[in-house]
Amino acid sequence: MEIHVNQIEKRSWIEINLSQLRANYEIYKKSLKRNAEIMAVIKADAYGHGDVQVARMLSGLGVKLFAVSNIDEAVGLREAGIKGEILILGYSSPVYTQTLCDLDLTQAVVSETYAAQLANTGFPVKCQFAIDTGMNRIGIDGDDAKHCEQVIRNYKEKLKVNGFFTHLCVADSDDESDKEFTSGQLTKFKTIVDLVADLNLPYKHCFNSAGGLRYLDESDYFSGFGEIVRLGIVLYGLKPDIRNVIPEGIAPALTWKSVLSMVKPVHAGEYIGYGRTFKVERESLIATVATGYADGLSRHLSNRGFVMINGQRAPIVGKICMDQTLVDVTDIPDVAIGMHAILLGKSGQLKYSADDMALDLGTIGYEVMCNIAKRVQRFYVNSYRDYL
Ligand SMILES: *Cc1c(COP(=O)(O)O)cnc(C)c1O
Repeated sequence: MEIHVNQIEKRSWIEINLSQLRANYEIYKKSLKRNAEIMAVIKADAYGHGDVQVARMLSGLGVKLFAVSNIDEAVGLREAGIKGEILILGYSSPVYTQTLCDLDLTQAVVSETYAAQLANTGFPVKCQFAIDTGMNRIGIDGDDAKHCEQVIRNYKEKLKVNGFFTHLCVADSDDESDKEFTSGQLTKFKTIVDLVADLNLPYKHCFNSAGGLRYLDESDYFSGFGEIVRLGIVLYGLKPDIRNVIPEGIAPALTWKSVLSMVKPVHAGEYIGYGRTFKVERESLIATVATGYADGLSRHLSNRGFVMINGQRAPIVGKICMDQTLVDVTDIPDVAIGMHAILLGKSGQLKYSADDMALDLGTIGYEVMCNIAKRVQRFYVNSYRDYL
């Protein structure tokens, strides 16, 4: 018996528009004030979009630099045939140095102690030092530029050091003190860039999506470290901060859909769902959406969020369940079993993005996207017009 389970008709699924992702990449690159190369940040399964698919599409456009969060992601990309530089931004245990070498992966060096551990394994791991310029997350202390220089020179040959990087933690903010802070981070980084200029290390980078758009310009100040931008969130059409303005034409590439498994009348005075948190006040029509918190729909949207059906909002009523969610469709005409509910994306004139959902949840679009569960199957489509 042949089993067909790969059609785009599930209980909960995502459609990813590769044309939109491509447009986002091209528009972002063009809107940079300096001609910089893009390092595509495809950690966390490309922010939920599928790292292999996204890397393949970008490779086709000439992208040769990728960043991931861990060695498993890096190995997955190599196994899928992705070429080019793959930088692992976070810690990998030194037990993996042979794998790192065999697969020609680049490891971020999070501290001096870690550099020594890697070097002690005897494998000449390709590395880039993380420099801490104020975030206090990872990296060697950027306040002591001389020491950073010394460390980089010391490990240049013991490990195969081909560059270093830092991370901006408030590049998306309009606050004056945050702007000053970012300038301070850039100054610290530049000082180290200048001290080791003679080494001609090819990879020196500090800009995330927001930094590239808001700080990088064509002035000489950035020569030596403004040639690479690590593009993450804006590639996926979302904003680093909800208040940011991103270039025209960049839009979310992802639509999250589900199906109505049941539509039924519920009488005034009855209750909905676990905990009886919603009391029906009028003769109502309630639909069951086949998506729940195990799919990544935050339970915090219970009695607050909505889904879109036929271009109209259907409010979530009651507590979101593990696999199902109840919505009020009383005011939407002709709702029937099998119809689609849009959780994120566009429906008629309505739009609701991960950024919008994040605002409703008090978080950021990054988290909304990463929380969409693996069991929500990803499908790849190529039509622009659905999403603009
Ligand atoms: C995640 C990450 C990025 C990408 O940041 P966006 O805000 O998504 O552009 C860049 N650099 C590092 C080190 C990161 O961890």
